[in-house]
Amino acid sequence: MPPPPRVLISEKRILRRVGALAREVDAWSRGGRVVVVGVLNGSILFLADLVRRLRSPVVLDCIAASSYGTARTSSGRVLFNRRLRLNVRGAKVLLVDDILDTGRTLAALSRFLRKLGARRVEACVLLRKNVPRAADVSARFVGFDIPDCFVYGYGLDLRERFRNLRDIACAPPFENETRMKTARRQPEKRAEDLGGFPAGARPSDGG
Ligand code: 5GP
Ligand code: MG
Repeated sequence: MPPPPRVLISEKRILRRVGALAREVDAWSRGGRVVVVGVLNGSILFLADLVRRLRSPVVLDCIAASSYGTARTSSGRVLFNRRLRLNVRGAKVLLVDDILDTGRTLAALSRFLRKLGARRVEACVLLRKNVPRAADVSARFVGFDIPDCFVYGYGLDLRERFRNLRDIACAPPFENETRMKTARRQPEKRAEDLGGFPAGARPSDGG
């Protein structure tokens, strides 16, 4: 039997935070035409939960970008493999992605949307990894700040698997294979021990 996932952020915490993010987005989106652009595939569950909690009228489109392939580290090149169907000229665009890591994906997509004539482009990410960014980019709306570990679940994959996991889990690093064997016999770490806090909150705030 494979070891159980090391849960970093539980479904309950995710959904509570997504509700709060939706209210932040509502406050921002007042006035003007808002186009929500989801970045496939990783953002799909987050996108679905977020948009159905929005009260403001938005239109929805998706774009596909990949920089990872099947590896755990970014290839550095961002590939777009789906065209937008909606016209974004003059619109406020909310880019919705699963995670801000190196920042290359969001930087490339923001550039692309501005070229298409978007009036404003803001990013909303569920997770923001605590790593140096390779591209000058920031997200206006952030669900959780997480440590530098490879995460999966709630839309994010681990070699294409586990996107349907309801929680977000942290994959054990490859180099810890031997230590992992011993760790498996120890009790699972709680999410709070691993990190993963609502953006802007201190660990003691409880999330
Ligand atoms: P960036 O361009 O910011 O380096 O990476 C963004 C994309 O890489 C995300 O949209 C996501 O698809 C993927 N990514 C980055 N970190 C992780 C991770 O920890 N787990 C998974 N499954 N995907 C990740
Ligand atoms: Mg992605």
